[in-house]
Amino acid sequence: MSGKEYFDQGELVAVLTTQPLDRTLDYKAPEGGCFLGAFVEVPLGPRKVLGVVWGPGQGGFDLSKARSVIRVLEVAPMREEMRVFLGRVADYTLTPMPAMLRLATRAPGLGDPPSMRKVYRLGTGQPDRMTDARTRVLEVLRDFGGLAFTLKELAEQAGVTSSVVKGLVKQGAVREEDSPRDLPYPHLDPDRAGKDLTKDQAAAVARLQAGQRTGDYGTTLLKGVTGSGKTEVYLEAVAEALRMGRQALVLLPEIALTAEFLTRVEARFGARPAEWHSGATMTERRRVWRMVGQGDAQLVVGARSALFLPFRDLGLVVVDEEHDTSYKQEDGVHYSARDMAVLRSAICGGRVILASATPSLESWANAEAGKYDRIDLTSRFGDAVLPEMKPIDMRAEQMQPGTWISPSLRQAVLQRIERGEQSLLFINRRGYAPVTLCRACGEQIACDHCDARMVEHRFLKRLMCHQCGETKPMPDACPSCGVEGKLAPVGPGIERLAEEAEATFSDARIAMLSSDLFGSARALKAKIEEIAKGDADIIIGTQLVAKGHNFPKLTLVGVIDADLSLHGADLRAAERTFQLMRQVAGRAGRADKPGQALLQTFQPEHPVIRAILSGDEEGFWKAEAAGRQAAGVPPYGRMAGIVLSGPEVAPVFDVGNAMARNDAPLREIGAQVFGPAPAPIARIRGRHRVRLLVKAPKGGPIQDAIARWIAPLRLKGDIRLTVDIDPQSFY
Ligand code: ADP
Ligand code: ZN
Repeated sequence: MSGKEYFDQGELVAVLTTQPLDRTLDYKAPEGGCFLGAFVEVPLGPRKVLGVVWGPGQGGFDLSKARSVIRVLEVAPMREEMRVFLGRVADYTLTPMPAMLRLATRAPGLGDPPSMRKVYRLGTGQPDRMTDARTRVLEVLRDFGGLAFTLKELAEQAGVTSSVVKGLVKQGAVREEDSPRDLPYPHLDPDRAGKDLTKDQAAAVARLQAGQRTGDYGTTLLKGVTGSGKTEVYLEAVAEALRMGRQALVLLPEIALTAEFLTRVEARFGARPAEWHSGATMTERRRVWRMVGQGDAQLVVGARSALFLPFRDLGLVVVDEEHDTSYKQEDGVHYSARDMAVLRSAICGGRVILASATPSLESWANAEAGKYDRIDLTSRFGDAVLPEMKPIDMRAEQMQPGTWISPSLRQAVLQRIERGEQSLLFINRRGYAPVTLCRACGEQIACDHCDARMVEHRFLKRLMCHQCGETKPMPDACPSCGVEGKLAPVGPGIERLAEEAEATFSDARIAMLSSDLFGSARALKAKIEEIAKGDADIIIGTQLVAKGHNFPKLTLVGVIDADLSLHGADLRAAERTFQLMRQVAGRAGRADKPGQALLQTFQPEHPVIRAILSGDEEGFWKAEAAGRQAAGVPPYGRMAGIVLSGPEVAPVFDVGNAMARNDAPLREIGAQVFGPAPAPIARIRGRHRVRLLVKAPKGGPIQDAIARWIAPLRLKGDIRLTVDIDPQSFY
């Protein structure tokens, strides 16, 4: 990709566009020429589309027919390392380049001229008369020196209505001006004093900072029990990256995490970082994208796709809760943000910190193999101790039908309520009941478009398919036999558990936390803050609560069904259960009071449950690693999932069978293909799904083999094929 860096007007350039074409297109460089990597607008048929100058034009056609680049956008050109990165991710994930470019330009209006907005500063005029409100506005403006505020910010800071500000503008005491929207982010100061670190934390920081100073690539697994100060530690690595004038990115699994997190960043660096997530407004996204590209955002805190922002000099990527499955994108480009963070940093000479209390087996194995450095933080900060973990043997509990809180768990919760402490009841299932059964005919209400049962959501008063999101009202009569009044919920979801808790603990304040119960991330954040302050005795939560929130008064975690995820078809079922249970248990006893975790299980002697209870993590990982090694599955072998789908089942199977027969490219690298078989969810949104699994030896060129294997396919009709390299879920 080296060679020519600049193209004069009229020279042919190859442009990669975001349109689904399998090649670049040639255009003439516009007036004033353009740089390699320039973001441009080009004509395509009757439309104008976004593209990037990817190299010299290929030519080979009548040059008089070539059209010109319409204009070069006013944004920093794409850097070479970004072009290399996108190319490598495309090769790794078998994704066409236009889709990669779309991922790297997910900010609307990139090409628009900088838009303006009104801002307010101190003026020179004198108001005709002073009121308290007016005084406050002028004070705020004086206190903040020359800083400009938006109308909303200024009114909020001063605690006045916007008409007060407007009045001052009329009199010239406040100046109103137009200012570009895409402002640089406030400066983060790495040299502000951080917290006093413990000896372990200080040692970890010293090692991470020394790594940072090499200016070379390197990955560190930062393993530390919940509450050990991993965040404090990696923020010091961020500080070191900033001191060196480089940028940093902190990836977090859930937007809900950022409320508390942003406050901590602000406390450490004196200003808030740039945020990148799906909840951000269009203007905000555009600002982040542009400022990152010109180096005017030092730190970005974001969701996985922030990895594709055009950083000018990315010196550090932190992947917090690195084991979290949401780092794997499973539609569009199937990529793992954790793995691609390592790739990107290897290209740009940056560091990676993978932080977790319960690392993925992949990262654990990479550390064992010496590919990653590993730092352990083994004790909780301050007086906090790890919770005691105990099973509740459900075979010995007296349970009423249709209830899930055992007498032993009830006792423990009552004790906490008496002491003014909080309890968390954890169930990893949204909705009221996973199954709605007709007691007359035995029918279970299913989705019309998917091979899945509808889940009752009482809160929404509807049945919902968790595969496709389709909802319908709860019918009075069975859709199959027509008998009325015989539909009954089977099994618990979070809403049903809350109902049981309300009946069982009638005086307690109960709060439900589930991603679908809140209209916005903001509402969810507000709820979490309320709970942290102590506005609840019992928290009923799904997976959402397993992640990073601090509830200082929480001393008991009750896991309603510890067996729930033990038996998946998934090769990672044991690992996931282990991680989830330990994460959830880690919520208890973060402050000065010791915590306890009670796991309701029918199989207390199951090896995974025993490993969770004993806390022998290294033992668990070693056993799990040995099992995977023997089976030749990740991380000791490579896998890829192929899903074929179409409106009719037979033609989809025909393609799958033909693929299985013509597997020479796979056999050449010692890989095997399994299937075709109906996918575990055999129909989604009316499309039948058939899957093939490819298993290859570690180090085998699996992408190249699969590319050669599928190249000759000519998919007819509406049949689609997706390839998922290193699949994380099997559905
Ligand atoms: P982790 O990320 O490992 O769960 P955190 O960094 O969130 O741990 O630390 C847990 C709690 O302890 C936080 O409230 C944090 O502010 C506090 N904490 C950790 N280390 C220190 C320290 N050295 N000084 C003061 N508070 C600390
Ligand atoms: Zn559905």
